[in-house]
Amino acid sequence: MKQYDYLIVGSGLYGAVFAHEAMKKGKKCLILEKRNHIGGNIYCSEVEGITVHQYGAHIFHTSNQKVWDYVNGLCRFNNFINSPVANYKGEMYNMPFNMNTFSKMFHISTPAEAKAEIARQRAEIKGEPKNLEEQAISLVGREIYTKLIKGYTEKQWGRDCKDLPPFIIKRLPVRYRYDNNYFNDRYQGIPEEGYTALIEKLLAGCEVRLNTDFLEAKEEYLALADTCIYTGTIDGYFHYCLGKLGYRSLRFETEVLDEENHQGVAVVNYTEREIPYTRIIEHKHFAFGEQPKTVITKEYPADWEEGMEPYYPINDEENNRLYEEYHKLAEQEGNVIFGGRLGQYKYYDMDKCIEAALSLAESELAE
Ligand code: FAD
Ligand code: UDP
Repeated sequence: MKQYDYLIVGSGLYGAVFAHEAMKKGKKCLILEKRNHIGGNIYCSEVEGITVHQYGAHIFHTSNQKVWDYVNGLCRFNNFINSPVANYKGEMYNMPFNMNTFSKMFHISTPAEAKAEIARQRAEIKGEPKNLEEQAISLVGREIYTKLIKGYTEKQWGRDCKDLPPFIIKRLPVRYRYDNNYFNDRYQGIPEEGYTALIEKLLAGCEVRLNTDFLEAKEEYLALADTCIYTGTIDGYFHYCLGKLGYRSLRFETEVLDEENHQGVAVVNYTEREIPYTRIIEHKHFAFGEQPKTVITKEYPADWEEGMEPYYPINDEENNRLYEEYHKLAEQEGNVIFGGRLGQYKYYDMDKCIEAALSLAESELAE
């Protein structure tokens, strides 16, 4: 008899949802977390009475009824709708790409005029778009590509848009309506008490060891439980034996400002190449706060090196091929299941992450 049924590496959303489901079935779980707090990248802290998204803006959005019911069963969500604004050399454009953007950019007013202008600009792209640049021009034309996409994307990913896969830009809606909602999903909001409260609910009653890196004593920890759910980097687990997967990292610079309202919206994207950060978030606007001070965070993209947080997997062909090789190794690990954004090397949003953890729980915990 091992001491625990499940050893869960990582207290992010994936690990926490799995732990919650396992505990409901009477399973004994131990969570190891190398950071000094729970929650992974959705962790929030409190500063000046304002909930601060410590690792960048997190807006919950989903069209999956089951996932929405699941999170609402744990905490109350507010009615925040993400409507970021892009700042290109001081010109302000609504995002995502919609009639507000087109009318300001092209000095037109109707969907027919916007479509005609974009059709004219996209004529330079022949055939299926082969990279992000071609995909972007074919979606919104060269002018919007140049002002709102090229600089932002090249900062974010550290590469030329011609060397990036088209799918990254297809995440964003393109709409011929005056509608600044960044997402197309049916449901959207932010937990009223922040995401840490959500994770605390999921982990209620679970043993968690913070400041504990599983990889420092892997065999010892694995011996504690029948099964391990591992949500760290898959290449890290195997000591990068087949080579390193590509990740993008970020650096966050947070300041408290002695003013009530700094930018008038939660997220402003800085789309020109010359400004080194990609966005500034003003946290109070996620919760319609009216505190006398405000907290802002500048988000600087960074090349990832060992020892830094790997925030984004770079799912280009070369990395996906390498991931498949690691996945084959993972399948031979027997009692270790790899999950989450880093374990599965997938650009998961929170809802997809919950969906995946619930689906694992369903198969793994079936009687
Ligand atoms: P993580 O949150 O990364 O959790 C993994 C945990 O494992 C971490 O706590 C880590 O410290 C721990 N760990 C790793 N290795 C070890 C080890 N060896 N030993 C012990 N512990 C270890 N999604 C949305 O739906 N909406 C958004 O608006 C949104 N915005 C985002 C903005 C940014 C800047 C980023 C980076 C992501 C965003 N996401 C958003 C995605 C969201 O963050 C993820 O879907 C979610 O956090 C993934 O949870 P996870 O548990 O897979 O991974
Ligand atoms: N993007 C852009 N300009 C913007 C916002 C986004 O070009 O003002 C592009 C960029 O390539 C980014 C992609 O759209 O990587 C997806 O944006 P999203 O906001 O979904 O990225 P995330 O929230 O994952 O950082």
